[in-house]
Amino acid sequence: MAIMTLEAMAKFRALYRQSIGSNYNGWLHMFSVLLVGLGVIFYSLSRLESVSLYEYAVFPLTLFVVNFAEYYAHRWLGHRKTKYGKLFYSRHTGDHHSFFLEHSMDYQSVRDWRVVLFPVYLIFAFLIGLILPGGYVLAEFVSGNSAYLYAAGGISGYLFYEIMHFSYHIPRGHWAEKIFLYIPGWKALRHLHVLHHKREKMGEANFNITLPIFDLLLGTLYWQSPTTFSAELKTKAE
Ligand SMILES: [Zn+2]
Ligand SMILES: [Zn+2]
Repeated sequence: MAIMTLEAMAKFRALYRQSIGSNYNGWLHMFSVLLVGLGVIFYSLSRLESVSLYEYAVFPLTLFVVNFAEYYAHRWLGHRKTKYGKLFYSRHTGDHHSFFLEHSMDYQSVRDWRVVLFPVYLIFAFLIGLILPGGYVLAEFVSGNSAYLYAAGGISGYLFYEIMHFSYHIPRGHWAEKIFLYIPGWKALRHLHVLHHKREKMGEANFNITLPIFDLLLGTLYWQSPTTFSAELKTKAE
């Protein structure tokens, strides 16, 4: 069974890699997302003028809403077939979860980033579909500061997702992994995502990628100690 899964995964990886256009550039992909995201955050923060305490509260509040959006989109669009979320479902359950399994979580080359990061257009869709309308409403009815803090918070949440998810797929022992290992709690968060990549768990548990707030609130947090997990992997491989 385990060998079948490995074989199927290797086959899928080979096919997927063939389908990536020869002009795909992983670094360009990553830097485009970072440039747009950080650009919006810095621009928004630069527009703030004498911010009140309640206006500052918009920032963490937005992060909290994004945490729910991450949970919602992942659970109900990424792991369930829907009419409007078809493309996301096929990219997520179809591609991402066939490419990475709990025993093979590392990307192997920069070209593999294609299956780790969201496509670049998604940050623009997020900006146009959620940030601009929400910001407009806040600017009209609350204040300019709250609109800019909402934009900064929303995009920070987006980048938080991208960076954390990417970090979980960094090869073990890579210099970049060593940087993340300094962050308290990061290793546990990565382990939660590793557990989510078990085929039998992916539709049930650990839908948060950043902080497992809504997994905790909605009872979908699944934990297995790393020792038990490794022992289980060993027996499956035999
Ligand atoms: Zn993943
Ligand atoms: Zn998933």
